[in-house]
Amino acid sequence: MNYQKSIDLFEKAKNFIPGGVNSPVRAFRAVGGNPLFITRADGPYMYDEDGNEYIELINSWGPMILGHNHPEVREAVIKAMEKGSSFGAPTAKEVEIAELITEMVPSVEKVRMVNSGTEATMSAIRVARGYTGRDKFIKFEGNYHGHGDSFLIAAGSGAITMGNPDSPGVTKGTAQDTLLAPYNDLEFVEHLVEANQGEVAAIILEPVAGNMGCVLPKPGFLEGLRKLCDKEGIVLIFDEVMTGFRLSQGGAQQAFGVIPDMCTLGKIIGGGMPVGAYGGKKEIMEYVSPEGPVYQAGTLSGNPIAMAAGLTMLKQLWDDNSIYSSLEATGNAIVSGIRDSLKSLGLSYTMNHIGSMYSLFFTHEPVVDFKSAQTCDTALFGKYFQAMLRKGIYLAPSQFESLFLSTALKQEHVDRILEANEAALRELV
Ligand code: PMP
Repeated sequence: MNYQKSIDLFEKAKNFIPGGVNSPVRAFRAVGGNPLFITRADGPYMYDEDGNEYIELINSWGPMILGHNHPEVREAVIKAMEKGSSFGAPTAKEVEIAELITEMVPSVEKVRMVNSGTEATMSAIRVARGYTGRDKFIKFEGNYHGHGDSFLIAAGSGAITMGNPDSPGVTKGTAQDTLLAPYNDLEFVEHLVEANQGEVAAIILEPVAGNMGCVLPKPGFLEGLRKLCDKEGIVLIFDEVMTGFRLSQGGAQQAFGVIPDMCTLGKIIGGGMPVGAYGGKKEIMEYVSPEGPVYQAGTLSGNPIAMAAGLTMLKQLWDDNSIYSSLEATGNAIVSGIRDSLKSLGLSYTMNHIGSMYSLFFTHEPVVDFKSAQTCDTALFGKYFQAMLRKGIYLAPSQFESLFLSTALKQEHVDRILEANEAALRELV
């Protein structure tokens, strides 16, 4: 494949943009090679500046659950645009999407729209602190909650990929209120709460982690956190930026039957536009300004174009629950195909999978937390990534990301993915 135009663009970009990209993992540092500059995407395909076509398994890091350039979402955006792109005043669509979110997501009785997942988590923590009158919160190693200062401590995703899970620029004062626990270790969390009795405002977690690769909660883990929070008056926050509207209409909380006090949403909720949201129990959300004293605002929050895209996307998912069984079937087909190939090649790498999220980890250990994720051979992952790319399959350019499937993937695409996977694995052994 020829990547010359992407190579030239990257060289130029580095003069004007830090690292040549507007979000770190896009730079392909962890996998080597040159990042691809994309011109368009349609259904399951993405096209780069040199005209190469890829079947892609990230879907813009999650949002494009119905595939790229979905006709109804596109039409909704065009129609909204014809009426003006921003008013800074309330619109009927904001009411409609808020009502729909409260119907879809079990924990959400009231919801505030923001512009990114980062804003959603920053705001949710502030509200939990305002509500409880406590300062500290617990997060899990390898979970990523966006780039707010207090979350950039043992952060997953790009932060681990770049080797800086604790970012310079976060003050000691800020860091001391973030308490860390290993994912899936309920006992550790119980001790941590005991050691900080009456000081913990919130426990925030990815109910299924996607930012150290795909890591599932152990049976009883979410339930145990729920019980602990009830007992100690701690606000349980599920960060469902990845899992929301992906694992089911109501996200991981619905799939696992554990309902948090608050949750954060992003990605799918914007249909590809920059949108996030946070919501939860009425009595907590009533602390948000102007109803309550906790301040949070946004010039472009609830933007009419973004709301048109998001509302159209959510309606598609709400109107047709069979989308989730079909995503599950695609996930099962890909994952069992990869498992078959691993077996026939005598390889015992770890696969984690749920619904339309999965990761192939280049380690022989089960991956249940940050520590076990760190046992992966990331150099080998880089080789696998490059081999897949040469065969026209675009994966997330890091071992520590989940892949996200879309409904645009049909049998022919699954067949191509599995053929490429087997050939790529063969090259590695
Ligand atoms: N929370 C989770 C679980 C995420 O996966 C992400 C982004 N990958 C964020 C928060 C931050 O969202 P954004 O990139 O939109 O700020």
